[in-house]
Amino acid sequence: LSTWINVPQGPPAILGITEAFKADKFEKKINLGVGAYRDDAGKPYVLPSVREAEEKIVNNKLNKEYAGITGVPEFPPLAAKLAYGPNASVLDRVAISQTISGTGALRLGAAFLQRWYSGDKKIFIPNPSWANHKAVFSDAGLKVETYRYYNKDTIGLDFDGLVADLKAAPLGSVFLFHACAHNPTGVDPTPEQWKEISKVVKEQNHFAFFDMAYQGFASGDTDKDAFAVRYFVEQGHDIALCQSFAKNMGLYGERVGAFSVTTADAEEKKRVDSQLKILIRPLYSNPPIHGARIAAEVLSNPKLYEQWLGEVKGMADRIITMRALLKENLEKLGSKHDWSHITSQIGMFAYTGLNAEEMDKLAKEYSVYATKDGRISVAGITSDNVGRLAEAIFKVKG
Ligand code: PLP
Repeated sequence: LSTWINVPQGPPAILGITEAFKADKFEKKINLGVGAYRDDAGKPYVLPSVREAEEKIVNNKLNKEYAGITGVPEFPPLAAKLAYGPNASVLDRVAISQTISGTGALRLGAAFLQRWYSGDKKIFIPNPSWANHKAVFSDAGLKVETYRYYNKDTIGLDFDGLVADLKAAPLGSVFLFHACAHNPTGVDPTPEQWKEISKVVKEQNHFAFFDMAYQGFASGDTDKDAFAVRYFVEQGHDIALCQSFAKNMGLYGERVGAFSVTTADAEEKKRVDSQLKILIRPLYSNPPIHGARIAAEVLSNPKLYEQWLGEVKGMADRIITMRALLKENLEKLGSKHDWSHITSQIGMFAYTGLNAEEMDKLAKEYSVYATKDGRISVAGITSDNVGRLAEAIFKVKG
């Protein structure tokens, strides 16, 4: 008998969409499943600032020695500065490590909570949330529950439900918040709503765990997108933060990220740092160096940094333009539905409000591929395909 005779077949991953898309022979097929930015020609995009930083690094002919356990030394403080703000007083007491992109940050954060959080080893995530959240936290040994987030009737935020669930959770619970550009809904709290959330989190003595995978990518402004994180810190919360440089620097496959925890003082920071190292060492020993060197160069070189801010804004603006064009085209076709959520939502994804059956029809009859929950990647829309996409949605939905 084979050793692995008892291993059952798992369900297919979301990459199923990509496979169906590839198999479709229609020349004008549209793939709105991918979570990666595309330029207006539908092509993957390497940011010119990132290219330039990379060339510099290659030309420097650096060696390939190991990074430290917490990464390329220059990188974590620069990542912290970007997230918390260049003049944030908290920077002196942030324990931070480079991680294997945002997913690695979440996994390290989950391990840290599992080992050291003094309350329940449980995390509340929004309903819905990025599909990997539940898997990451439960694989790290935490219980995962959900709090109300999305209201399908308004295609917007269920703010009252969210606040009620914050209040109903046991005191001192851990809550995961998407810092900006909530995936999959594209629905974010307003600054006023974040202030209220902060207040209730404090009253309930909860702990805020932020996932910030889209800083700059949402609004085009890295400061604006960090509002929630910085506000919580200003209000005196201790927080944890996961950062990804996949989207905002287009470093997807280079796997550049960071995990940080704000602490009470330098002495506490030292203790937390030591425990992060103890967790990382047996997981993967130390992270890859190339992408972090690139990110550190972009963040520390004033010319490249300015250029990068412009390029991030360029990506965000293209997405914002495509949202407006899609809405405009649907209205021009005479759609009676209110499509304002398409433009009020933010970030890479739009929640169209289409149901699974309608999404199926989009794929089968119009060669438009996206996830069954009605989420489309706005990054896959171009000036060229937006008209055809609007027609397809109009024909399916009216
Ligand atoms: N968190 C959210 C909400 C995401 O959408 C993603 C990527 O899609 C990630 C984290 C992590 O991505 P990565 O591991 O590529 O940085």
